[in-house]
Amino acid sequence: MHTISMLFNELGEKVAASSQRASDIVSIDDLIFHQLDNKQVLSFASLQSRLMKQARIDVSIYFQGDHYIGDVIRMEYTGNTQTVFVVNAKYIAQRAHISTDDSNNIINSTDIAPWEWDISTDIIKINEHWANIQGFALDEISPVTATSWKDSLHPDYTELFNYELQRHFKGETRQFEIEYPIYSKDKDLVWVKDFGQVVARDAQGQPERILGTRLNLTNVKIAQFKLNDLQQQLDNLMDLSPSLTYKMCADADERIQFITQSTEQLLGYDVDDILWQPKWWRQRIAPQDLWEYDRCRDIAKTRLQQPIMDCEYRFINKEGEEVWLIDRVRYVDNGYESPYFIGTILDLSEFVTLNQHFKTLSLLPPGVIYQFQQDKNGHYSFPYASDEFENIFGVPVEEAARDANIPFSMINEEDLAGIHKEIERSTRTVTESNAEFRITRNNLTRWYFFQAKPAKQKDGSLLWSGQIIDITERKALEQQLEQQAITDDLTGVYNRRFFMEKAHQMLVGCQDSSRPFTLLCIDLDHFKLVNDTYGHFCGDQVLIEAVKKMQSALRSDDILARIGGEEFIIALANVTLDNALDIANRIRRDIRMFTVFCNDTPIFQTVTIGVVESEPDNTLTELMKRGDNALYLGKKSGRDQTMTG
Ligand code: GH3
Ligand code: MG
Ligand code: MG
Repeated sequence: MHTISMLFNELGEKVAASSQRASDIVSIDDLIFHQLDNKQVLSFASLQSRLMKQARIDVSIYFQGDHYIGDVIRMEYTGNTQTVFVVNAKYIAQRAHISTDDSNNIINSTDIAPWEWDISTDIIKINEHWANIQGFALDEISPVTATSWKDSLHPDYTELFNYELQRHFKGETRQFEIEYPIYSKDKDLVWVKDFGQVVARDAQGQPERILGTRLNLTNVKIAQFKLNDLQQQLDNLMDLSPSLTYKMCADADERIQFITQSTEQLLGYDVDDILWQPKWWRQRIAPQDLWEYDRCRDIAKTRLQQPIMDCEYRFINKEGEEVWLIDRVRYVDNGYESPYFIGTILDLSEFVTLNQHFKTLSLLPPGVIYQFQQDKNGHYSFPYASDEFENIFGVPVEEAARDANIPFSMINEEDLAGIHKEIERSTRTVTESNAEFRITRNNLTRWYFFQAKPAKQKDGSLLWSGQIIDITERKALEQQLEQQAITDDLTGVYNRRFFMEKAHQMLVGCQDSSRPFTLLCIDLDHFKLVNDTYGHFCGDQVLIEAVKKMQSALRSDDILARIGGEEFIIALANVTLDNALDIANRIRRDIRMFTVFCNDTPIFQTVTIGVVESEPDNTLTELMKRGDNALYLGKKSGRDQTMTG
């Protein structure tokens, strides 16, 4: 921060440098002393304005008749937010040959807090404003003495105060000038700045009288402390950040004016080697990505609404390795300095590598890895799907990313309805969803299974991550096992377990609606003899052929089961006893008429059938028992019989 005197000296030099009468002007003080003409002081102010570009400067000049008696210069720097109020009050009393009253009137109409210290009496004259700075009324604080003044100082500053005062008394400084905190009436700290100058000395050169002014700096100090604090925090943050921040001229040379220390960690380069070098950054961008770098900057320049651009490019670090960077850049043209880019840069290499790993990994598991999204207005899409997706659905991944209904339309209609229900459930409960579905392509139907976990997104959408696998083989195996569990291996008809379950349902169904239900209990005659005569293998062939004859007499709703070695049972729903007898007789006749050739040997087989119709209160077991009895009767009466019971 500029001190006021530094600022004055700097301005003085600038004025001197640009003035035609440079030799006349040594410092601002001289300027004010020598150029007592209103017009010249004002032209000095406008010159300052021009030199400082954005600075706003107000100059008030006090005249008494033709005599210049003082000035108040107030400057506000909008460029670097520094505010300076300069009050050259000391000249007022010193130079004006005017009455004290007039002088006081003038002084009291400004913010000036003057003081006048008579060393011989040790009385310090002050005004109301001076007292007010400390929160006192003038009466409350008077009389002010050197002791009471020093008592109000913050103890840390007593030594400095005395030192500066002594230096001035000895004539080592042109004026006494010090910034320090004092205690207010309420014991709060108030920051002030005192300027003073010895105006009278005795014959021995000892100071007799000092004139000075006091400024209340509290607000400026608070702002300054806050600014320092913020600056410190910002510096710390920037150093901590895994990103680097830079400021780069937006002209053709693209010189970097500022870049954070983190550059060293991120890219290996020394900050001092980068600063102010023309085109330093551009020279290290991978040539194939330069167009992307330029495109981003061009867009950033023209974009006023959304001035931030993200661009990704490869960059060569100090080690000579290529790293992926994301450069978030903004173009700034504030009108008082040359346009520049300001940006933050992150090393994306790890992310890019991870992404590549993920891509490779996504190919390893069977099937497809995907993300499925339902946005707030209910639109479905697949934001991500691994390559296999296209092979399954026959739809490019890009189309699926646009609209999930495109791949959905490939799914078997019946299964799709189930999937929609499952998605609705998963959406409602935010729980994992899964379902099986079929896709028929090129006349080939395959089964798939999907499984996905949903997660709510910040924007209100729901995002599922999941996997689709081909389960065609598993599905076939399952169906085979299911079939095996309910059928007989040799003949392929249902087994006893399945019959008991299914026939029970049929019986109850018929009884409930008073429809007829009949059973045919079939047993092969003298089958033991077949085995004994022709062997077990031939016996099996006879069993198989006999079953075929039974099947051909049945409708699709009828159930045929093997319930023992050479014993079969048929359940007929909605069939009366008379009709059942007809069916039984047809079966019996068909089997008797048929000849099984086994090892070129003709084998003849007959069956005996017991036929029963259920009574309204019969259980299946009771009915089967009745059927067995009828069968037994048939056997007893000579076999190859149909017998009711
Ligand atoms: P009946 O006319 O009184 O029914 O005489 P049967 O010989 O048919 O009756 P029995 O119950 O004495 O004999 C049944 C035979 O069926 C015994 C067994 O050798 C034969 N058998 C049972 N299961 C199978 C099979 O799976 N394959 C073959 N080849 N024979 C079987
Ligand atoms: Mg038997
Ligand atoms: Mg038998």
